[in-house]
Amino acid sequence: MDDDSTTDEYRRALEVAHRRALRWLDSLEERPIRPEVAVDAILSRLHRPLGAEGLDAAAVVEELAEAAEPGLMAMGSSRFYGFVIGGAYPAALAADWLVSTWDQNTGSRQPTPATAAVEEVAAAWLLEVLGLPAESGVGFTTGATSANLSCLVAGRDALLRRRGFDPVAGLQSAPRIRFLAGDAVHTSVVLAGRIAGLGAPHTVGADEQGRIDVAALARALADGDGPALVALQAGDVHSGAFDDFTAAIEVARAADAWVHVDGAFGLWAAASPALHHLVEGLATADSWATDAHKTLNVPYDCGVAIVRDEAAMTASLGAHAAYLPVVESVSDPYDRVPELSRRARGVTVWAALRSLGRRGVVDLIDGLVDAAAALAEGFRTIPGLEVRNDVVFTQVCLAAGDDAATAALGDWLRAEGTVWASSSTWQDRTVVRFAVSNRGTDAEAVRRTVDAVARGAAALGIR
Ligand SMILES: *Cc1c(COP(=O)(O)O)cnc(C)c1O
Repeated sequence: MDDDSTTDEYRRALEVAHRRALRWLDSLEERPIRPEVAVDAILSRLHRPLGAEGLDAAAVVEELAEAAEPGLMAMGSSRFYGFVIGGAYPAALAADWLVSTWDQNTGSRQPTPATAAVEEVAAAWLLEVLGLPAESGVGFTTGATSANLSCLVAGRDALLRRRGFDPVAGLQSAPRIRFLAGDAVHTSVVLAGRIAGLGAPHTVGADEQGRIDVAALARALADGDGPALVALQAGDVHSGAFDDFTAAIEVARAADAWVHVDGAFGLWAAASPALHHLVEGLATADSWATDAHKTLNVPYDCGVAIVRDEAAMTASLGAHAAYLPVVESVSDPYDRVPELSRRARGVTVWAALRSLGRRGVVDLIDGLVDAAAALAEGFRTIPGLEVRNDVVFTQVCLAAGDDAATAALGDWLRAEGTVWASSSTWQDRTVVRFAVSNRGTDAEAVRRTVDAVARGAAALGIR
């Protein structure tokens, strides 16, 4: 194949992708949010023998888009509230296309100077907007789960080194680390702890919104001895609640514990002066995990691991000289994440932040919080429904008088298609969870959402 035809094949394939991408984006606000068909229907279209002969690139992309579209969830819609899922800013999405096109394996600074530099700028901006120590190490991971893992591993090893134990020798003969968290600890932290060899956390208790019981944490720390790692939470997935960082970190410091904060979506509260009360003391922790693919609205996948002591991070995650507690030269991207090879996912963070500016970031966060408050206010006007949580951030848990009616309302909403919210169980009650995470959730989206919920409640005879 000569160069011209290679270029031509790229052009034709990318043109199809461009056309189908715009068509998808144009449909987002008006199509039903739920997928039109389930996974079996897509499988029945696509799952055939591979066949001996290949297909032209443009035809492949067309076939893919045609087959996939009916099974796509409109996760980028302003009325998608499931799980905690952000949309994608135009600058971030377009930058992501370039990241794929450039195809830079951004592990090391020297061979990929451009993308490594863009990520370093993105990291510095992130620390600035989140009010975290500027000297922190930042790794761009696949998500908050691997960011939690990265931070827990850094903390685990730092604690072991403080006891004179070299973590490179492995955990089999290492001192036992006590791993503590509140009862509302996210499953991702539990998983990360298991992978890190810490086991499931000892949960010390929490209040009715999910905030860690600080007095119980103090007692648990005083009851035992040996190194301790405490996982706190910024943003409970049901209530949106934030732990009392000032008090919890003071208690943890007294026990010489490492303090990690899972702030997959909640860490972003630190970017808004209006939300200062939620995050007081947050910046004094040792490590933080967050996502850019949630609140910052960059495309999947992009999480961020942040460790105050960068040397501790690179000592644990670095691909070389892992036994050296101090790294003197500038670290490489692969020294701060669990992978060697990876896409330059931090470029989307640069693009989103560059397009927003500091004021745009504040407006994004305040807009999500305002939308959650407006949803709660609207829901409270609907007879027979109640908002179960204190709406302090972006999460709203809705319930009818009994669990069966709440479950039916969740099913009705998802089937009707104007909105998509997850059903869950919280504080022993069935709830419909609205996690406001999309930059487009404005007053009109809120109005249409409240209207859909009111129609659902009426259709189900909830009063
Ligand atoms: C989403 C979430 C995680 C996990 O993040 P992923 O990006 O899905 O790996 C962890 N903690 C909290 C509080 C979350 O909301």
